[in-house]
Amino acid sequence: MPSAPWLHEAIARIEADYQRSADTHLIPLRLPAFAAQGIDLYLKDESTHPTGSLKHRLARSLFLYALCNGWLHEGSTVVEASSGSTAVSEAYFARLLGLPFVAVMPRSTSPEKIAQIEFHGGRCHLVGSAGQVYEEARAIAAETGGHYMDQFTYAERATDWRGNNNIAESMFTQMARERHPVPRWIVVGAGTGGTSATIGRYVRYQQHATQVCVADPAGSVFSAYHRTGDASLTAPGSRIEGIGRPRVEPSFIRTLVDRMVDVADVDSVAAMRVLSQLLGRRVGPSTGTNFVAMLTLAHEMRERGESGSILSLLCDAGERYLPTYYNCDWVHQTMGDCASAEQRLNALLA
Ligand SMILES: *Cc1c(COP(=O)(O)O)cnc(C)c1O
Repeated sequence: MPSAPWLHEAIARIEADYQRSADTHLIPLRLPAFAAQGIDLYLKDESTHPTGSLKHRLARSLFLYALCNGWLHEGSTVVEASSGSTAVSEAYFARLLGLPFVAVMPRSTSPEKIAQIEFHGGRCHLVGSAGQVYEEARAIAAETGGHYMDQFTYAERATDWRGNNNIAESMFTQMARERHPVPRWIVVGAGTGGTSATIGRYVRYQQHATQVCVADPAGSVFSAYHRTGDASLTAPGSRIEGIGRPRVEPSFIRTLVDRMVDVADVDSVAAMRVLSQLLGRRVGPSTGTNFVAMLTLAHEMRERGESGSILSLLCDAGERYLPTYYNCDWVHQTMGDCASAEQRLNALLA
């Protein structure tokens, strides 16, 4: 049992941090080829959180959940399995509470994310592949007498789904004065699956006509799991940081997702570049994956003569990925030539 004064102070610090925070902007995309047909696209800019990604929301929720469950106490080492972004945000909250933090991540994680975790006072423990992070994190928590946060299990339940200014409620509020205020589609990628679960539950609870689409990168298991329902499936793992998993994560709730769109790596990277030019600033690769699925849905709507709005997330900024996804040599070696994918996208937008 954590001591009551420590627990109260810990929760108060997180709530004060929340009180000081502002909501993230919803950015309308200027796409005349779709706007002329009554189809509007928007991105919620999650890169503006203090730790640079949508994982700021998740980390806050996971810490509050763990604190209220009595899983954290003074001096607890907090351990997490992550592809990077969650660990950056959790390192921030661990430091806010004065707790040591260890991130267990694949060796392929961006050096920039590793630097940010260390900047926030966390320690990085790198393993060979994405599939090894879970057991290693569990082992380190056991050795240190600490707590394994386990985002891949708890993301979907730590987040308030009926409202309380969660990401879904915020999106609907921000759409209130648009010409199509109730989105036809909300597109997200799935890492933990927590964001798709929160949005899926919220739209049903509010009885909106909105459907949820998950954009799944090559090498991820989620698409096959969505098709078959077989939770024992595995896959090689994704090359788009932050999304796509080698195993079916407990936090990915299949019945909350109306549609999956499979996205090839070259398309994700090409879309990341095209979108960055459109916005005048760099976005991360998982935002590129989202943009491909948004354009797929927009194209289908245009073919059917439908109008409406499509929302998605700008999950993080591109500055974290300059040596990798923004480095032509790295992209060429890792996933091949993106030039024809970029041409196809530009043709779709013309
Ligand atoms: C985690 C993450 C996602 C997906 O969000 P989940 O709620 O975990 O499914 C998308 N993009 C980036 C960059 C992420 O870090």
